[in-house]
Amino acid sequence: MRTLDQNLRRELIEAVAMVVIAHAEELTSLDQAIGDGDHGINMKRGFEAVLTDIDGLAARPLPEALHAIGMALLMKIGGASGPLYGTLFMTLGKELPAAPAAEEVARALAAAIAAIKARGKSETGEKTMLDVLAPVQAELAGGGAELTARLRRRAFDAAAATTPMKAMRGRASFLGERSIGHMDPGARSSCLIVAAVCDVIGG
Ligand code: ADP
Ligand code: MG
Repeated sequence: MRTLDQNLRRELIEAVAMVVIAHAEELTSLDQAIGDGDHGINMKRGFEAVLTDIDGLAARPLPEALHAIGMALLMKIGGASGPLYGTLFMTLGKELPAAPAAEEVARALAAAIAAIKARGKSETGEKTMLDVLAPVQAELAGGGAELTARLRRRAFDAAAATTPMKAMRGRASFLGERSIGHMDPGARSSCLIVAAVCDVIGG
């Protein structure tokens, strides 16, 4: 395992920001199907703001960097997902040590999921980002071999599994049954973020 130094923090931040920005159009079209079509634009704006200070962020210890990323996302993304992604990153910043082991990441992610649920008044099974984050957390907590490859696969499978779900939270819930048959945009963006982290850590 590589040391979580400034170079690795920079690679992680860049990979996450770039994958979100590269998929902005796809996220927008997913949100056009069951929302108001702004998820790609929102996420792109948030992660472009993160990239403007990538060197400053990477120079900080992991907890501080995550907190600052969360603040930037909270202020820039907007919509429902801005406060929720802000909560995700800020809680990870609060809970993680500077060089966490996998079990510590699992615990911190559990705390972040609980914070998102509290903020969004939401639960898993409601066709949201939680339906990717929670299964990924469960897989991570289980540990074992080939963890990054398994987490990556789990994230993609979990995002795909939101397609047949009926939305119970956020704008998509206004569509009721008509939300069935479309992947949740926030589940897709969460899956992309998890996969980008796994790609960098897994090498
Ligand atoms: P908005 O719905 O305000 O336009 P976005 O389009 O940026 O915001 O984000 C929509 C995504 O946010 C959804 O696809 C879903 O994953 C997530 N989301 C919305 N409401 C909630 C909630 N209450 N709890 C968890 N996630 C939510
Ligand atoms: Mg939207």
